[in-house]
Amino acid sequence: ARQHNGPDAWCFFQEAMTHSARERLELEARLRQALAEGHLQLYYQPQVDIATGRITGAEALLRWLDPVEGLISPARFIPVAESSGVIGPIGEWVTREACAQGQRWREMGLPGITLAVNVSLHQFLLTDLVGSTQAALADAGFPAEQFELEITESALAQEPEQALQVLRRLRGLGLRLAIDDFGTGYSSLAHLKRFPLDVLKIDQGFIRDIPQSADDMAISAAVIAMGHSMGLTVLAEGVETAEQLEFLRARGCDHFQGYLCSRPLPAEGFEQLLRSSGGVALADRPCA
Ligand code: C2E
Ligand code: MG
Ligand code: MG
Ligand code: MG
Repeated sequence: ARQHNGPDAWCFFQEAMTHSARERLELEARLRQALAEGHLQLYYQPQVDIATGRITGAEALLRWLDPVEGLISPARFIPVAESSGVIGPIGEWVTREACAQGQRWREMGLPGITLAVNVSLHQFLLTDLVGSTQAALADAGFPAEQFELEITESALAQEPEQALQVLRRLRGLGLRLAIDDFGTGYSSLAHLKRFPLDVLKIDQGFIRDIPQSADDMAISAAVIAMGHSMGLTVLAEGVETAEQLEFLRARGCDHFQGYLCSRPLPAEGFEQLLRSSGGVALADRPCA
């Protein structure tokens, strides 16, 4: 391509690279500042038991509320946080914040739920995840049995032997482990079988086109059956319609998350939802 487009194209390419590198550095600095100044926030999305309609958990999702730019999506800043290593301190903050919030809800006497937190590749392989998680749980007084870590399939596939050791130590703390975005990565079923996991989360990409896509219905059904045969609880992500929920119910899927129940909510909004629903959703309205 360089030959055909001549030196101008090459210069343009270099300039674009420099620009994006500078942009990334700037974003990284602003992210560190956001963490220091308390501009990061957790939103919570309910996880619902399909058979009972009960809210059994919540996934904590990171939000960056920039005073100038407004809400910045994790899709934009997690990759930068990840490649720069800022994800280390940010991830620790996320776990501490989720544990503290979970403990406040317990003390208020709200229905007991599991809190799930996302862990990225860098956090999983390059930080003392076991130590920091243990400390966060202990400092908050939040029970490990009600805490779950979500790890993507690709993070587990990267260094399967090291991953297995970390997972075993995390499991030893008494918490639960979920494999996130299942189906999008590239994991060997042989490894998967050895990992001490509790929950398999089917990626929303397989749910989106149900019931139009026969392929996605076949894949989701197979993943549910496979998860169950491995003794895992199966959760479907990104459920937006009643048809999708009905399909999942018929296939014996255990839990779902998605806009059909609720978007991720700030802590106060989630608390209200738990209170007003008593933690139970109705049959025709899967979530209050
Ligand atoms: P994820 O862990 O797979 O989270 C699910 C994403 O799907 C969330 O996007 C959620 O808002 C979105 N979602 C939930 N229900 C629906 C639905 O019905 N329809 C559609 N279209 N989307 C739905 P979000 O909050 O933008 O987060 C994106 C990703 O950023 C997460 O994917 C996760 O990988 C990462 N992330 C978020 N918070 C954290 C964090 O605290 N730490 C780390 N390491 N990663 C995080
Ligand atoms: Mg997740
Ligand atoms: Mg996911
Ligand atoms: Mg994802």
